[in-house]
Amino acid sequence: MTGSIEGKGGVQMNRKIGFIGLGIMGRPMARNLIKAGYTLVVFDVNAEAIQDLCSAGAEEGLSARDVAERAPLVITMLPNSPHVVEAILGKDGALAGAGPGSILVDMSSIAPLVSKDVAAKARAKGVEMLDAPVSGGEPKAVEGTLAIMVGGEEKTFDAVREILLKMGSSAILVGGIGSGNVAKLANQIIVALNIAAMSEAMTLATKAGVDPEKVFQAIRGGLAGSTVLEAKMPKVLKGDFKPGFRIELHIKDLMNALDTAHGIGVPLPLTAGVLEMMQALKVDGKAQNDHAGLIQYYESLCAIEVRGRQ
Ligand code: NAD
Repeated sequence: MTGSIEGKGGVQMNRKIGFIGLGIMGRPMARNLIKAGYTLVVFDVNAEAIQDLCSAGAEEGLSARDVAERAPLVITMLPNSPHVVEAILGKDGALAGAGPGSILVDMSSIAPLVSKDVAAKARAKGVEMLDAPVSGGEPKAVEGTLAIMVGGEEKTFDAVREILLKMGSSAILVGGIGSGNVAKLANQIIVALNIAAMSEAMTLATKAGVDPEKVFQAIRGGLAGSTVLEAKMPKVLKGDFKPGFRIELHIKDLMNALDTAHGIGVPLPLTAGVLEMMQALKVDGKAQNDHAGLIQYYESLCAIEVRGRQ
């Protein structure tokens, strides 16, 4: 561990940042930090992803541990809880390389209880952690306009807030550690149910012989208009299910939502229903599709395709 990260009001900003997890989201997020003038040391289990970032000016990390030895702030952007546990708590994980005063910011969407557990183990080593999952998908990751929902200590949040705002247009401290991921689960429930409602409605319109594109144009300015409708309906109309946000990742989020909810005695009947639709698509080999592909569940029920006519 070298130097220290100081945010607004701090003494000096050490500009080296570690970044672990360079997938659909992590890659553009890391690029935005490079564009903002930070030196990045990056690691991913996929060597091609590391080389891509190195060609954009990043330094190559040899492991998560190596990254944390070289940067006092380490950001992780990984698929799910087990990947975060491995990358932070594993033998060659970030915590093995981090020292007192280091900060870990996990921006992956994972189970809130796992965030709490990893943070407690980090704190025992004098390392502070924030959970800071994001919403907005790949387009907003590229633009640097993600919505970032953060859990953890205010002092730690203040130290990294400006850095987060190089990747997002908002960064809100929701509460203590784990709260960022609770907010993200709420976000994912709302997004999943919106896509399901859109799919159900547009399947009805199509089967009734009405052009779904015209229905989209007619309703988008009214109360049914939404960010989800704007982002996902054009993909449906083109039959473009290239991810974006993969169905398999949304299944992961909804399973985390149900586990969390059941652990505190909250039933989530609508979430459970949409999860089963996504499971059916997974069984049908569509887990890698964008979650806009939920429409295909409804299409198969009615033997139609919901597509634009022009
Ligand atoms: P992704 O699968 O494209 O990328 C994950 C990256 O992590 C991959 O490059 C993989 O090789 C790497 N990785 C896995 N295990 C690792 C380990 N132990 N050490 C180092 N690298 C490892 O996933 P993504 O779409 O970038 O999503 C990342 C997170 O962001 C997920 O939690 C997802 O739910 C969340 N998210 C995604 C989107 C989206 O639209 N894709 C939007 C918001 C939030």
